[in-house]
Amino acid sequence: MRLVDQVPRKNGVPILKIVELESIAHDEISSFLRSPVLQATEIDIEQFAEEHLRIRFDYAELSNNQSILGMMVFQDCHVPFYDSTNDTINHFEVKAGTALIDKTLLEGPKMQHRARFTAAHECAHWILHRPTKAIQNTSDSKQPPTNTESRIVCRTTNSKSLSDTQQKTASEWKEWQADNLASALLMPGASVRAFMRNYLEVENKKSNPFIDTFGERMVIAKNASMLRQMSAVFNVSVSAAELRLKRLGYLSDYAPTLLPLVPENQHEVYDDWF
Ligand SMILES: [Zn+2]
Repeated sequence: MRLVDQVPRKNGVPILKIVELESIAHDEISSFLRSPVLQATEIDIEQFAEEHLRIRFDYAELSNNQSILGMMVFQDCHVPFYDSTNDTINHFEVKAGTALIDKTLLEGPKMQHRARFTAAHECAHWILHRPTKAIQNTSDSKQPPTNTESRIVCRTTNSKSLSDTQQKTASEWKEWQADNLASALLMPGASVRAFMRNYLEVENKKSNPFIDTFGERMVIAKNASMLRQMSAVFNVSVSAAELRLKRLGYLSDYAPTLLPLVPENQHEVYDDWF
């Protein structure tokens, strides 16, 4: 948290490189687990949110078309909720420190991965974008907070695959940062390294003929299995696992090749911020 408070901001958005987001995730998860992250294991994101960040989750209908999957409330405010029974919108007061998750994400096991990622995404907003002064003054502020200060609304339309290099608005940068930090919270870099070491060790013991070549055929043959295993270990979607491996340099967009294990602190750093 202190790192985020100290970094420069542009349009209210902290300027953070990927390596700094990785560091924040590592620190937060290590602090939550009370030990360094060394193993490939699922992170209980609700417990992380409630016990470590001291925020609570609430589930409600946030829109009539699932266009809003999550919302992070920074200050006490009134929030519009959809009532599908009467097809109306009603406003209710929501307390600061509440992460609202759309109820549709509770519908069945298929939505579990999306619910977990949305929960992690809202945790990331709390860590990165919480207006510290506003929080401190919440109880005695004489000015009612404006909606833009009081909460971040996460629409499905503004989180669609924002590339690292494209120009972004301040709001889009926040979404990009929250997505990347969410991914690192659910799959900490050290945990992914542990997973990859285990995976390659097992494959090598099988004398898999493709594993030593790190060639195109191995990826095509083994990628789906590897991603399914990673999805199961971390309880994330296969696509989230794939994006994470690409971010950490284990999979490349440019050549369908599984790269050798990357030593710690030598992951690719993206320098194209702002
Ligand atoms: Zn968001």
